[in-house]
Amino acid sequence: MTVSSVLVVGGGIAGVSTVAELRKSGYAGELTLVSVDPFPYDRPPLSKEYLAGGRDLESIALQAPEWYAEQRIELIGDALVEVLDPEAGTVTLLDGRELSADRIVLATGGGSRWPDVERVVRELLDHPTPGRGLPVSTTGIHTLRSAEDADALRGVLLPGARLLIVGAGLIGAEVASTARKLGCEVVLVDPADPPIAAAVGIRVATWLHSLHSVHGVETVTATVRKVESTRSGVMAHIEGEPGPRTFDAVLFAVGMGPDTILAKAAGLDVENGVLVDGRQVTSHPDVLAVGDCARRRGHRRVEHWEAALNDGQRAAATILDIDPPPETAPWFWTDRYDLHVEVVGEMREPDAEHTTVVRGTLGEPPFAVFTLRGEHVIGAVSVDDPSAAKAARRMIDRGVDVRASDLADPGIDLRKLLRGAR
Ligand SMILES: Cc1cc2nc3c(=O)[nH]c(=O)nc-3n(C[C@H](O)[C@H](O)[C@H](O)COP(=O)(O)OP(=O)(O)OC[C@H]3O[C@@H](n4cnc5c(N)ncnc54)[C@H](O)[C@@H]3O)c2cc1C
Repeated sequence: MTVSSVLVVGGGIAGVSTVAELRKSGYAGELTLVSVDPFPYDRPPLSKEYLAGGRDLESIALQAPEWYAEQRIELIGDALVEVLDPEAGTVTLLDGRELSADRIVLATGGGSRWPDVERVVRELLDHPTPGRGLPVSTTGIHTLRSAEDADALRGVLLPGARLLIVGAGLIGAEVASTARKLGCEVVLVDPADPPIAAAVGIRVATWLHSLHSVHGVETVTATVRKVESTRSGVMAHIEGEPGPRTFDAVLFAVGMGPDTILAKAAGLDVENGVLVDGRQVTSHPDVLAVGDCARRRGHRRVEHWEAALNDGQRAAATILDIDPPPETAPWFWTDRYDLHVEVVGEMREPDAEHTTVVRGTLGEPPFAVFTLRGEHVIGAVSVDDPSAAKAARRMIDRGVDVRASDLADPGIDLRKLLRGAR
């Protein structure tokens, strides 16, 4: 059946990538994008430049306002899809409007997770709003997923403000860095030592984590047991400490959970994400899912910007029944303390099968660390060296053989190794 109408639920990078790719690939039918926000904007700046106050919402828009009309995309902003009916091919908006389409793409992203600690704000947890995550903090207790969250957090990041960040993963670390730039006193608590070791390897993770104290952040390896909003601030009980400490604000940066509300209610297969096949198709043939809300069957769920973009492109190819773009090694970036970190593929600790190779000097950017299995690169982390990450990605994708000693030698051009020359 020829597809003549497509409706995308969710205006994040995955949803926008889907509609953009459909038009780019020649799809001429009806195209509708339903967005909770007035217009789709990008999320990575929310913990970086936007939080620092250097950007406004318009400047992080994913597309210029006129782009939607030019592309003949009906953008329905400030709208929430409340019901999905896969059999009827319809969605119902919160205002009661019903829209139908031949294919529906779920691009609903997700919301910040709360850890299982006692809080006086229990009602926030009990009443999350679908598609909007958790209500914006009025209690000094924050999460960070939306621009509204970032605005609320920005409001308290005044010079001298005491901020507790629970969770030293990618977002927690980025906010610590931004908050220090804004002159806040920051305490960063995480039970993992070092955090993010699985993503970047223990050595790089240890060095990255040590940068917090270099920049005046107090790091604590522990769990936060309880937080309470009081008139004089937020009291936090940190494991192992004799009494509570008081902060002006607490940010929970303990990960995100996929927004599967619509899919679940519609009876689609859901398990830590809306389950999809390699073509982004859910358990209903006319419904696809992309980005942070989706998980490919048999795989781990991915929560990175480029993966969401790629999902959208794959979904568009599926809808048009054309070949999808080739899959590449996974990649993401993160920025902290003016350093740009890129991660590609899979980092492993050295063992009988795997070797770690440092190019440059670990801890003295620019440098890169590679994981090899035999003579194949399977992962890399670069700090202030994007070309190393780019080359590593090509090595992984092409499966070229490299010698560890060549990789380690900054005098040898990585592009040469890519061509197989030594
Ligand atoms: C603060 C922050 C910093 C980040 N930094 C990085 C980074 O440096 N590098 C990196 O690789 N990744 C980063 N990420 C992750 C990256 O932003 C996400 O992977 C990406 O945004 C996922 O895109 P998405 O479109 O799947 O979901 P989202 O961006 O979450 O968009 C989904 C949209 O759908 C809406 N929605 C949900 N339900 C409904 C409904 N029923 N009706 C209508 N709309 C609905 C949501 O409100 C949301 O607007 C960061 C994320 C955050 C929060």
